[in-house]
Amino acid sequence: MFIDNKYIENLLAESKLSTDQDIKKILDKAEGLQGLTHEEVAALLTTGKKQHIDRIYQIAGKIKKNIYGNRVVVFAPLYVSDYCVNKCKYCGYKCDQDFQRKRLTMDEVREEVAILEKMGHKRLALEAGEDPVNCDIDYILDCIETIYDMKLDNGEIRRVNVNIAATTVEEFRKLKNANIGTYILFQETYHRETYEEVHPVGPKHNYQYHLDAFDRAMEAGIDDVGGGVLFGLYKPEFEVLGLMLHNEHLEREYGAGFHTISVPRLKAASGSDLSEYKHLVDDETFKKMVAIIRLAVPYTGMIISTREDEKMRRDLIKTGISQVSAGSAVDVGGYSTREHSNSQFEVTDSRSAMDILSWLVEDGLVPSFCTACYRQGRTGDRFMDLAKTGNIKNVCLPNALMTLTEYMMDFANDEFTKNAEELIRKQLPDIENEKVRKLVEKNIEKIKAGERDLYI
Ligand code: SAM
Repeated sequence: MFIDNKYIENLLAESKLSTDQDIKKILDKAEGLQGLTHEEVAALLTTGKKQHIDRIYQIAGKIKKNIYGNRVVVFAPLYVSDYCVNKCKYCGYKCDQDFQRKRLTMDEVREEVAILEKMGHKRLALEAGEDPVNCDIDYILDCIETIYDMKLDNGEIRRVNVNIAATTVEEFRKLKNANIGTYILFQETYHRETYEEVHPVGPKHNYQYHLDAFDRAMEAGIDDVGGGVLFGLYKPEFEVLGLMLHNEHLEREYGAGFHTISVPRLKAASGSDLSEYKHLVDDETFKKMVAIIRLAVPYTGMIISTREDEKMRRDLIKTGISQVSAGSAVDVGGYSTREHSNSQFEVTDSRSAMDILSWLVEDGLVPSFCTACYRQGRTGDRFMDLAKTGNIKNVCLPNALMTLTEYMMDFANDEFTKNAEELIRKQLPDIENEKVRKLVEKNIEKIKAGERDLYI
């Protein structure tokens, strides 16, 4: 049992006694890109001193720049079914909400995917409520197959990450065989009593089953798993320590921790009033949590969704976030109808994908549609080995520049193309390995001449 409420609460209390010298030592270690233990994270979580907090942000920015450069991976969610047997108090899909539920037919999936492909998306996060009758694993597998098969002009989805309820080893094996990217599941809260209170009914009520989901996924051969908590349900410091302990458990047992960590913050949803929650996380605390996670697990991707506004997304990209969603609809069939009939939560950044991509490029950031790693077998510990030996620069940046060129050729307007070309020109010298740089320059010309899906 790797999560123990008492242990976490005690550690947080004891950590308040950390001296300036202790904190300095921890920050020096973080600056060397060595990651942190959960005990060290606890010390950072409990420091209130401005000098330490300033240095946390400064190091987070440095780590972000060193490991991820200017790249930001872009994706979109695809909601396929809002049938749900759970009663998660905060969620617009909970079973006692009275609305016309919907599950997409395969034709409707194709319709949604066509729109996403026209936006330039290459990676999706497939989302569904939990309902073993109306949305069983075979339906999810059909969706995945339909998505991968749907190719429109030069559009195609090359990586489907899956965010569905915790399931059995047997069903995880089926997902693995369907070639999913990351299996994503948010613990929502690591605090057992709170977890049980906000998930009063349905299979999700079982804290332990939910907590052990990644062990079952790993047993089934899925070695890229993405964790997260829903900030606002319980104390944020407790949740970050929960994430760290979970990550250490996965590293210890399977040789690789989380591939990604998501940091959703609680939003209003129909049937859920935010005033009921006493642990809502303010902007400053939220930024601090993200920066500390960045210090603790420098090689783990960090994801922010359209739950946050433009300004917060910009700030967080500087201090840790490496993946953003763009142009998102969070209703079933929402891309085709653009109606917000019954969303899972309220979207804050409602700009179009094109607007978000232009915003990134104008800020000197490289939107990346790269999906190479899992297709090259670089998952789990193999990805971590690549990252930790500093080779990310010679792989991720090239793939980002090549996929940005594809986007530019296939979907962008003249102004975007002009800015993106300039950005690519400036970024090319950052590819340290000369051979790789030359290959990328050649490949960019090939893409401009019509070839697609070139990656290393
Ligand atoms: N049904 C699956 C499950 O139980 O894990 C998939 C989850 S759902 C499609 C994706 C995530 O949205 C949830 O795990 C939850 O963290 C988040 N979510 C739900 N309601 C939310 C709200 N009101 N505000 C912010 N995020 C919310």
